[in-house]
Amino acid sequence: MKIITEEILTELIKKHGFENYLRDLMKKLREDFSRWEEFNKIPRPSMQVPGGVLELMPICGKRYYTFKYVNCHPKNPERADKLMTVVATGQLSRIDTGYPLMVSEMTLHTALRTAATAALATNFLARKNSKIHSIIGTGAQSEFLVKALNMVRNIKEVRYFDTDPLAMDKFEKNLKGNKFKMVRCKNTQEAVRGADIITTCTACKAHVDVLKNSWIKEGAHINGLGGDTVGKTELEFSILPRCKIVVEYFDQAVVEGEIQRFDKREAKKKVYAELHEIFTGKKSARNNEKEITLYDSVGIALEDYSALTLTYELTQKYNLGEELNLTPVLQNPKDLISILK
Ligand code: NAD
Repeated sequence: MKIITEEILTELIKKHGFENYLRDLMKKLREDFSRWEEFNKIPRPSMQVPGGVLELMPICGKRYYTFKYVNCHPKNPERADKLMTVVATGQLSRIDTGYPLMVSEMTLHTALRTAATAALATNFLARKNSKIHSIIGTGAQSEFLVKALNMVRNIKEVRYFDTDPLAMDKFEKNLKGNKFKMVRCKNTQEAVRGADIITTCTACKAHVDVLKNSWIKEGAHINGLGGDTVGKTELEFSILPRCKIVVEYFDQAVVEGEIQRFDKREAKKKVYAELHEIFTGKKSARNNEKEITLYDSVGIALEDYSALTLTYELTQKYNLGEELNLTPVLQNPKDLISILK
């Protein structure tokens, strides 16, 4: 079985190229979302714990089964041992035998697949001539999002704000040398001024009005990524009725997304489409220059499936990944105790 550590994934991405990986992942995501009905899926079971949430994300396709374990603990970076807010691990198994093929780090994978899915959604929903991207929350996910969105739109200016100035310093350092103009802002209102695309990616376990309704202009596209569990949202509620809302998977979004603030029947009426309906053209994306579109993202297991299957293919191409036995290798499959002899 292949073990994909963070070091191995880093090596793989260096060999393949960061943009190539994101491009291939976008292609795979689009294909997988287009085969939506083929997957056996459930809204993820999540367990609220003091200071955070723990989630398990399984999904079964025609060939593979994958799952991810992921957390979100917004106060982790403030700890003396400086832990990340979101970390994850995952597995890919073959369905014909049930044997695991790959156990993997999923923290980097999560950032990559979240950014790639948001870029695809943006490509369908944002105005074609979008030039200004505002990002609120410049933490671990932020640079991935900026880079991925730049692959689908000709972004000339990135405006940004984070309540932590050190997070903005880090963001600036990591994105230095890019072609677009970087504008550091004093608050969110200033950051979203004139924005064509707004990405919110903050972490706070509460209903917080990171974005206010009065700041959102006609024609904007919003990627709402940080409202992704029960009791954790980022948009002033009055923004939602103004938007054409697209979610990944209604049954999960209604519990975890911005739309959790509607009652379920109301949410059903307010949501325009699931992503797969947009990707396949079953429903039209943006209809005019004035619509405000919202990609209300919570992150679903299918996105991890696409990332894990892409990485698995690339580990074969580049002959990467440590082979270790996490399941027994036996002469006689009924003689498990022989391992201990
Ligand atoms: P992070 O802790 O590294 O970064 C979050 C940043 O937001 C921090 O720098 C923090 O200072 C800032 N922040 C908090 N409140 C703010 C506010 N009101 N205004 C401006 N900045 C604020 O976390 P991360 O790994 O970057 O994840 C960010 C969020 O994205 C989390 O809530 C996480 O759950 C979510 N997430 C969603 C998906 C998805 O698929 N939708 C995937 C991954 C992460």
